[in-house]
Amino acid sequence: MIKPRIGVFGLTGCGGCQLEILNLEDDLIDFVNAVDIVHFTEAITEHSDNYEVALIEGSVSTNHDVERLEHIAKVAKIIVAIGACSSTGGLNCLKNLYGVEKAKELVYGDKKDWIDAIETKPIDEYVKVDYYARGCPPTRSEIVDIVKSLIVGKTPEIPNYPVCIECKKLNNTCLYDLGIACMGPVTRAGCNARCPSSISGCEGCRGPIDEPNINAQIDLLKKYGLTVEDIMEGFNLYNACKKITDKSK
Ligand code: SF4
Ligand code: SF4
Repeated sequence: MIKPRIGVFGLTGCGGCQLEILNLEDDLIDFVNAVDIVHFTEAITEHSDNYEVALIEGSVSTNHDVERLEHIAKVAKIIVAIGACSSTGGLNCLKNLYGVEKAKELVYGDKKDWIDAIETKPIDEYVKVDYYARGCPPTRSEIVDIVKSLIVGKTPEIPNYPVCIECKKLNNTCLYDLGIACMGPVTRAGCNARCPSSISGCEGCRGPIDEPNINAQIDLLKKYGLTVEDIMEGFNLYNACKKITDKSK
């Protein structure tokens, strides 16, 4: 079987999503044997422009990111966004709330003009994205499942139901019963309710489900006197680039 040639790229981000691939542990050997990794920003020094699949971490936050992304999109047949920064802009979008010039001044002071920074955007604002492994960081199993599906020519199955469903499967006590706020009713599942399972409210790192007004855990929200709109207000930590409240209406 011909192995798919894969490039793993990092735009503006912390490198944590690429690290998740390197931390695949038991699955790493199978992963490396199943594909031909020709470029891996964080792991190998060789560079190649001969790949079919691009796994891209990080948001577009500099003019250099724009150039690199557009080049990758010319080469790759399939683009997979890896992680929150790439999928929704992630934490980097918080900068946009201040405005680029103000944010540069706050961080770099009188050296701000040395910095190549533009308004942060997720990669699908520039290029067509075929699949998303969401989350900060994404789960290792989801990255592996997407790549496995691509190898056998299947469409990867990405959940479009809320984190609450995973909590129910795990028999978790709902955090609202403990007086803790949680974005689980409107956040796309796939992390196996990672935060609520550790008694920590979901902060929406996997982004919202499609059509939250239809697919959210509306009954649960009603029980606590909340609406979808109320909870969407808090969605800015990882999703400030997307006008979520507008999109959901
Ligand atoms: S609101 Fe949070 S803690 Fe409660 S069921 Fe949903 S995901 Fe779990
Ligand atoms: S529970 Fe929410 S914040 Fe935590 S990993 Fe899952 S989607 Fe992200």
